Amino acid sequence: MPAQKILTQWRILQPIHFVLGLLIVLTATLLLWQHYGMNLYLRFDPSNFKKVSASDDRDTEGGKSLGSLSTSPKYWRLDCQLKEGHRSPYCSIDLDLSHGKQGIDFSKYADLTIQYRYQDPREQINLVLINFNAEYSVEEDYRSQKFTEIYLPGALGWSTHTLKWNQFNVASWWIADKKIPPKWTDNEFSNIREIRVASGLYPKRINHQIDLAYIELHGKWISNNTLQLLLLLLWGASAACWLITELRRAMQALQHSNKQQQALKNAQEHLKETNQLLTERSMRDPLTLAFNREGLSVILANEPPNTLSSIIFIDIDHFKKINDHYGHAIGDQVLCLLTQHIQQQIRPSEQLIRLGGEEFVLICQHSALAQAKQLAEKLRLWLFSQSWPTGSSLSCSFGVAERLENESFEAALHRADLALYRAKAAGRNRVELAE
Ligand code: GH3
Ligand code: MG
Ligand code: MG
Repeated sequence: MPAQKILTQWRILQPIHFVLGLLIVLTATLLLWQHYGMNLYLRFDPSNFKKVSASDDRDTEGGKSLGSLSTSPKYWRLDCQLKEGHRSPYCSIDLDLSHGKQGIDFSKYADLTIQYRYQDPREQINLVLINFNAEYSVEEDYRSQKFTEIYLPGALGWSTHTLKWNQFNVASWWIADKKIPPKWTDNEFSNIREIRVASGLYPKRINHQIDLAYIELHGKWISNNTLQLLLLLLWGASAACWLITELRRAMQALQHSNKQQQALKNAQEHLKETNQLLTERSMRDPLTLAFNREGLSVILANEPPNTLSSIIFIDIDHFKKINDHYGHAIGDQVLCLLTQHIQQQIRPSEQLIRLGGEEFVLICQHSALAQAKQLAEKLRLWLFSQSWPTGSSLSCSFGVAERLENESFEAALHRADLALYRAKAAGRNRVELAE
């Protein structure tokens, strides 16, 4: 496969895929390592452990048994003469595990293996783990420590047993003698100060011989259960992290899309406003800002049918002379001023349109001929009374027509134009009504 193609295929992988792969590899590695490795191991035998002694029942309750210890390279040997005296005569091999006041925490190990030999296979040996806990133990009283024990069968040859902690039991004599409350009568291995390998409970009162080869403790740094819990937490935390990341990414995408939507909306709004402005502008004459012919057609198109309306045709008298005497710019100013003066005098229902040059039309909705004439007259006087950039007065002529029923605008405008013509002919500065 070409390198380019491999690269392209790798690119579709996302960080989550790598994390997932890593988690799977880590989980498998840890489980295998826990199963085959992570071993905790502790061994007591004559070659590595010297704090061993023999004890017997002579020190308490009138016991008379005699125990003695001999050590060979491969095992410790207890020679024991059991004699009447103690309520339960015994001898034992004692392994002292204490470092000062501190014992060994056996609970971090999973099991214990012991190898021993007993000269009388019909008897049992008593394996005892002695735990110190300040809740119920005092330094001065050896027997205030908790005695947790198990009885193992005697064997002529070497016998090996691997024991789990739940196979041990707290000695009933200890509970009874020390009047221990139930909350402290469970097995306890967190601070073992001594291991005792003793003769059993009812052996014959003869000489006994017990050989102890070794005691081993086995365990794992991390127990299977703890590892499973850790892995569960690891997977859970990774899943939670992934979820949070995905959630944040989704929220960012949402915010981004919202922003884009808003920007689009704003652009649309702006476009609409520009459009409105352009439409508005296209309807207006750029010089005077009165409606132009485009505006006129829009006004007519929006006019409700068969409504009363009148038309006033306005034409400045001798406008050409103004241009000729004062120049075109002053002529323009006059046109603008005239528009402003008329706009001030009319109502919203009356629209001013510049038809071209110095000719204007006023469309007066809801006005009959008489009202339109009145308005035309008012405008004529008003305009005549204003001051103008020319320094002299300005007069206009007016032709007024009421739109007849079913009459087109053009026809009515033509009649108003004829009336205006008559006004001009009659000497200007006057209002004439259409016929
Ligand atoms: P009458 O009293 O008969 O209406 O005479 P008049 O001079 O007003 O009419 P005429 O139609 O002879 O002249 C109109 C003049 O208006 C001609 C033209 O130079 C001028 N005019 C047309 N459009 C504009 C404009 O936009 N600006 C200026 N300054 N003058 C214009
Ligand atoms: Mg004119
Ligand atoms: Mg004219």
